[in-house]
Amino acid sequence: MNSDKTRHFQEQLQSELTSVRHALLDELKQSSQKFASELAELLEQSSPAEWLDIAATQLNPQQYPNFQRLVKLEAALCQIDIGQFGYCCDCETQLNTSDLMADPTIQRCNSCNQKAHTD
Ligand SMILES: [Zn+2]
Repeated sequence: MNSDKTRHFQEQLQSELTSVRHALLDELKQSSQKFASELAELLEQSSPAEWLDIAATQLNPQQYPNFQRLVKLEAALCQIDIGQFGYCCDCETQLNTSDLMADPTIQRCNSCNQKAHTD
């Protein structure tokens, strides 16, 4: 993947990351559970780099789709950093740009995706 395209995806991922962080914070603040509002306070005082570690110890991802999304976005951004973005994590073929445009956090090509779901 050329660097212009990668930069485009990086910007897309970062802007979504910002909005998902806000959405997750709002969700935690509005929760009636005490641990959630305490966690929101803690996260607000923490750097974005620490978010995942802190949230992972306290949140059940099943209950927080925004947190699941955050994990995926961070993973994709990390792959950009190490030059692995846009490749299937199982068979290492290059992913379709159109699939990545639809969701830049995808990790697998279509055929590996199907295999992963039927296993
Ligand atoms: Zn694959």
